[in-house]
Amino acid sequence: MTPSKNRLEQEYRAIKTMIRMYCKKFHYYEKGLCQECCALLKYAEQRLNNCKFGENKPTCDTCSIHCYKSEMRGNIREACVIPVLG
Ligand SMILES: [Zn+2]
Repeated sequence: MTPSKNRLEQEYRAIKTMIRMYCKKFHYYEKGLCQECCALLKYAEQRLNNCKFGENKPTCDTCSIHCYKSEMRGNIREACVIPVLG
């Protein structure tokens, strides 16, 4: 139970939840994630595992290094914003 692992796991779970909400709402996918969103989540997981900030990593919202590919980042941002807006 290291802080860094918790931190990354927390972020991963947050992203997973956001992507799931996004998928359910816009892809009408009730069971888990559609293929596209699954790929997005896998990609996000990969980025988190490789993130050079480690435990000091800011959330991806405020991260100074945009480690997501621009297309993926767009998806993430949408996925992050839309559930909040309702
Ligand atoms: Zn989807």
